[in-house]
Amino acid sequence: MDGRQFVQDLLAWYGQAARSLPWRASPDPYRVLVSEIMLQQTRVDTVIPYFQRFMERFPSIGELARAPEQDVLKLWEGLGYYSRARNLQAAAREVEAAYGGVLPDSAGEMKKLPGIGEYTAGAVASIAYGRAEPAVDGNVLRVFARLYAIAQDIKAPATKRAVTQIAAQLLPDARAGAFNQALMDLGALVCTPKSPRCGECPVQAHCAARAAGVQAQLPMRSASRTAREEHYGALLLQCGDAVCVSQRPGRGLLAGLWQLPQTATEEATARQATAELARSITGRDVAVSGPLGRYTHAFSHLHWTIDLFAAYSDSDVCADGSFHYADAGQRAALPFGRVFLRMLADHARGGRGGHD
Ligand code: SF4
Repeated sequence: MDGRQFVQDLLAWYGQAARSLPWRASPDPYRVLVSEIMLQQTRVDTVIPYFQRFMERFPSIGELARAPEQDVLKLWEGLGYYSRARNLQAAAREVEAAYGGVLPDSAGEMKKLPGIGEYTAGAVASIAYGRAEPAVDGNVLRVFARLYAIAQDIKAPATKRAVTQIAAQLLPDARAGAFNQALMDLGALVCTPKSPRCGECPVQAHCAARAAGVQAQLPMRSASRTAREEHYGALLLQCGDAVCVSQRPGRGLLAGLWQLPQTATEEATARQATAELARSITGRDVAVSGPLGRYTHAFSHLHWTIDLFAAYSDSDVCADGSFHYADAGQRAALPFGRVFLRMLADHARGGRGGHD
């Protein structure tokens, strides 16, 4: 490949085709960092409204650092991968404490902060500080796997190391941020995961996969592990308009978020297990009806199936202190996991079940 010509063609295309994104309007380090963290595993269209609300509420790294964690999680509610939000706030607190409130300008320093890996550090250092750092995520890996017809597992660390080395060699020092963003846009708009638009690709003349006609077969991936299946019975336990809720533990899956009471069970015993759960919460026998619906939620390594049952109590006193009754106003202020938000929304509408 003629690297110089490739960079020229890519940047010329980026100059006229760059996506207009809210964090690009004023790429200060904090805004770029928040956008990059939100964009991990998440589509741009989904991120934009979250980013805008987040910036309105936490316009600076100091305001994010000083906010209660529950406020941060509330603004992240529905975006998933909540450890990103907790790490982002932990990073903001460390920047306040150790760097005078200014995000460090080198990728090496940035990587010392919680939740900031090689890609994010490279993206922020290049876009916000103009540092000559590559930023190789899954999209950029795919683009390079095709450009160089790399027939190796795209998930293998050796492949990522090789691609990072290629990107670092091509990187134009004076325009590192534009180069990295151009690759991101090329992956999002043209060299898409399925059916790359080679006919309209600005770097098609440099592409080994297109020349060999193998772009549809690349990148290569090893078979992914099958997600573990878990079945739960959940409980919509009401006392008047209030609904019984609990907070998940501070560590692990959906840490610190709120949920409807639920218990692990087999499908066949879901009603009985949920009735026992209702008894342990209220301290007495409670009639359980349903299921109201079946809900599924996919995590990266885990798949939940939840049958939702209904019960009523005439007392809002809980025998188990880890449960509370929350009215509509209180529920609106608490951050819930997405699948539980859907249960509550369906309940408000009288609907039944669904998938994430
Ligand atoms: S020519 Fe096709 S496969 Fe190659 S980089 Fe462009 S879109 Fe991707």
